[in-house]
Amino acid sequence: MADIRDRAIRAVTEDGSFRVITARTSEVVREGVKKHGLKGAEARLFGELLTGAILVRETMAPSHRVQIILSGHDGGQMVADSHPETGLTRGFVSRGEGGAPVTLGADAVMKVIRTLPRGSLHQSIVAADGESVSAVLMAYMQGSEQVTATLGVASVVDGEGYVAASAGFIVQLLPEVQQGPLAVMTERLGDFAYLDDGIVGSDASAEVLLFELLYGMPHEKLADSDVHYGCSCSDERAIAAISVLGRAELGQMVAKGEVVEMTCEYCGRLWSVGPERLRALLADN
Ligand SMILES: [Zn+2]
Repeated sequence: MADIRDRAIRAVTEDGSFRVITARTSEVVREGVKKHGLKGAEARLFGELLTGAILVRETMAPSHRVQIILSGHDGGQMVADSHPETGLTRGFVSRGEGGAPVTLGADAVMKVIRTLPRGSLHQSIVAADGESVSAVLMAYMQGSEQVTATLGVASVVDGEGYVAASAGFIVQLLPEVQQGPLAVMTERLGDFAYLDDGIVGSDASAEVLLFELLYGMPHEKLADSDVHYGCSCSDERAIAAISVLGRAELGQMVAKGEVVEMTCEYCGRLWSVGPERLRALLADN
């Protein structure tokens, strides 16, 4: 039995024409969708954003965090957040005023945030009026990152609305790209437009996706990394969130002996910070 757990693979063709990244994200997406109780089109959109965050991170800088925030027309949001090294990926969904699910469309925007070394942020905003997450992310890569690439993400939902499989790929054209391989790849990517019915629907591994994309093209694997769904919240982060409060506010909390409670919006875990920790914060502040 082939190893089909979730992972991302990076490879480059030996002739220097293409850099390819493939990812199988079925478990990541199933976990995320279950956590947030999503089904059908909403599950699909969330799954494609999670997959997109992983692909963008792997393409731009695997060691930097990537967040994708899709904001709908009525204030609703869907967030995907992929972390380096651990491959930990998470997300959350908040519906807008009307309570309707977030969708792509005329008034929707997508913000992509990459964390650069030393904590500075690189933010881009693109219109999310494309017909698919793939199209919007491709516009982002081209417009904001100057990366010429074909990108596809697909989370396939079954007749009952549950996620059957999820995967994605990026084929990046390198400056050395040769005419011959480009023609072959262009034709092949035409077939990949049917990502959902074809290869993703069969829940293919990242390895199989890579093999199909680079069939007959000698290539070298650059990296192979695990990805999984999970939250990175912690006691330290809860305290860090409180530490941005002003001295006066902290002082008041300490005086009242308050316990500050915070729920992680990603995983729902409750963190509480008691008076002793608050007092220590106040002293350091
Ligand atoms: Zn959490």
